[in-house]
Amino acid sequence: MEITLKNLTKVFTDSKGKETRAVDNLDIKIPSGKLIGLLGPSGCGKSTTLYMISGLLNPTEGRIFFGDEDVTELAPEKRGIGLVFQNYALYPHMTVRQNIMFPLENLKVPKDEALQLAKEMAELVGIGELLDRKPAQLSGGQQQRVAIARALVKKPRVLLLDEPLSNLDARLRLQTREEIRRIQRETGITTIFVTHDQEEAMSISDEIVLMNFGLEQQKGKPQDVYDNPKNLFVAKFLGTPPIGLYKGELKNGAVYIGEVNIYQTEELKKEANREVIVGVRPEGYDLSESGTLEIISKFIETIGRDLSIVSAHEKAMTESFRIIVQDADSSLFDKEIVKVDLKKNKTFIFDVEDGRRLA
Ligand code: ATP
Repeated sequence: MEITLKNLTKVFTDSKGKETRAVDNLDIKIPSGKLIGLLGPSGCGKSTTLYMISGLLNPTEGRIFFGDEDVTELAPEKRGIGLVFQNYALYPHMTVRQNIMFPLENLKVPKDEALQLAKEMAELVGIGELLDRKPAQLSGGQQQRVAIARALVKKPRVLLLDEPLSNLDARLRLQTREEIRRIQRETGITTIFVTHDQEEAMSISDEIVLMNFGLEQQKGKPQDVYDNPKNLFVAKFLGTPPIGLYKGELKNGAVYIGEVNIYQTEELKKEANREVIVGVRPEGYDLSESGTLEIISKFIETIGRDLSIVSAHEKAMTESFRIIVQDADSSLFDKEIVKVDLKKNKTFIFDVEDGRRLA
């Protein structure tokens, strides 16, 4: 089921008449059968967007379509959605089986059929052997699977997940997100997954929609957005370790960090000479004896299989930043000053004023 949001806007007005534009003119298409990560910092409007899609909140302006059907005025229970929240909201006095079957009671599905569906859903989410337990006898990850089974039992057209992994510890988060990905693939159900965790969104989404202050910042495949951020916000929000930022100077199409020319293109010649921000991904440094930029190495740390140099530079905009070292000769980085050149496809130039990407 393709979902289309047309100029979707939500303005909240508090008791003093102060307005918050929680979602601002969102115009996106969510392709059928895909898993979309709706991503952004706290307060950026992710949950509000999800609640408008579910029908729990009415938009101030704009329309919502499921396929060709305009569902903007449709009551939540008529939209054919499955919702899973951060807190699983299971009924504590009911067994897993009863919890999963609960939505079917309202739909007056015959008991035998409901029992069969509950069993199928429990097996789909990998808790087939736990049907007789009560929620208190389950781990957090298992409880979340029950919540997902309950959301799927009505065979919804769309599955909406609001920070479904937040209450789980790091390891269970990883496991459960892989599980969500598997279930989504098996069912082929169009799914929107809200999270503030970029790594989580990047790892399981077919596409991400990155929001800030109620506005869409960028939409696309996770790797494409990472490789081609439209603006400074996107570049900073995606990536672990984060992008390193420097104060740069643009002079006649060439960008300098201090005295060193690190970048130049024809298109930048069209831009007025001024201060710019240079962003370099941690994997964007070539270490060599002849490297033109000199970086201070504070210490070396291990990140998974990689080494990273925790670095400093007088033009850097943060106290330290990280340079990932892969397959480099240790004589090149086992010293106080490390010489580097910047990889052009990992280096981005941004406008100081509005963060727009210039190159
Ligand atoms: P979080 O990750 O913290 O849940 P979010 O991205 O989901 O954040 P929303 O919950 O959608 O953000 O909130 C967006 C903005 O709208 C915030 O500034 C929030 O304070 C405001 N907001 C949300 N609900 C209401 C409400 N009922 N009344 C007034 N303002 C609200």
